[in-house]
Amino acid sequence: MKIMFIKKRKLIYLFFSIIILFLFFMLIFFINYPSSFAIELKKNSFFNIDVTTTLDDIAKSDEKKAYLTFDDGPTTKATGKILDVLKEENVKATFFVVGKHVKEHPELVKREYEEGHYIANHGYNHNNKLLYKDMESFKNEITSTDLEISKAIGVENYCSHIFRFPNRLYVSYIY
Ligand SMILES: [Zn+2]
Repeated sequence: MKIMFIKKRKLIYLFFSIIILFLFFMLIFFINYPSSFAIELKKNSFFNIDVTTTLDDIAKSDEKKAYLTFDDGPTTKATGKILDVLKEENVKATFFVVGKHVKEHPELVKREYEEGHYIANHGYNHNNKLLYKDMESFKNEITSTDLEISKAIGVENYCSHIFRFPNRLYVSYIY
């Protein structure tokens, strides 16, 4: 009976050691992986379940589709030309706009919106130092961009719901 008891205690120690190790690795992961900020944002704020469901459905579907996205605009060099081609081909796209550029060329974002394209968020400054400075700075990069889009397209409290991390093309988050 005594031996059994010791074995059980050892098992308990082993179990807790594994838990502590797991938590330690999780901590390392969240410190090093910038998306943890986005997960935090998603928890805290205006998380929209409908957008998630829609994206989940798309991901699970067997149907083959290509989605066009354009980053870093609007710019007088490219946006107008892109919009002309999309109109000609009758294709809709998503524009991941940068807040400071929206402020410079609101008329181009308005055109994107009025021609049926989706306006998504790519941060205000496209600057990783500002984006990852702290939680407040991160939220500010997103909310100030949405605010600038709101002004440009004339829609109150516009929330683009999708944020694409600057310089990390394949990392996007829903909020
Ligand atoms: Zn970019």
